[in-house]
Amino acid sequence: MNQIDLPHLDQQICACRLCPLFLERNLAVPGSGPAPADIMLVGEAPGKEEDLTGKPFVGRAGRLLDAALERAGLERSRVFITSVIKCRPPQNRKPKKKEIERCRPYLQSQIEILHPKIICLMGNTAAQAVLGRQGIADLRGRILEDRYLVTFHPAAVLRNRNLMDDFVSDLKMLNTGGLRLV
Ligand code: SF4
Repeated sequence: MNQIDLPHLDQQICACRLCPLFLERNLAVPGSGPAPADIMLVGEAPGKEEDLTGKPFVGRAGRLLDAALERAGLERSRVFITSVIKCRPPQNRKPKKKEIERCRPYLQSQIEILHPKIICLMGNTAAQAVLGRQGIADLRGRILEDRYLVTFHPAAVLRNRNLMDDFVSDLKMLNTGGLRLV
């Protein structure tokens, strides 16, 4: 994909028919935030409320993410938030490998356009799509390949609130350029 600007990339995503997910979406969800952006957050895929609004992380997981960002001292307006897959999988199922392959060039273009200094991969789908690795417990808590930080997906923290402190601790690293402050 040739480099284009963000508004044109958003247009391409919103009109995309590269995988079957376009058949059931209401709206594609390209992502939102400042451009360029020092910090980028990458989730898995839009859910029901994201599909209806075209905005990333506006449902229950999004509200938990907002609370975690606030506790980490990070304003949401400072971060660009997107996901690996830009259209909602039916019943919020996991994205299929082929869907991820088709959609991944959009994320790659966003990274090229936005030049984030640090990219937070939330959950195994994002870690696998970008780094080719899975296993949050092993990967989280340190900077990988100079600019990637792996942490939990907010939906996982919704299911297990015991993860919240570690999630906030990881997000704090985004605020300190990758350093973990004690
Ligand atoms: S999920 Fe990605 S590849 Fe599939 S239709 Fe949506 S934008 Fe296109």
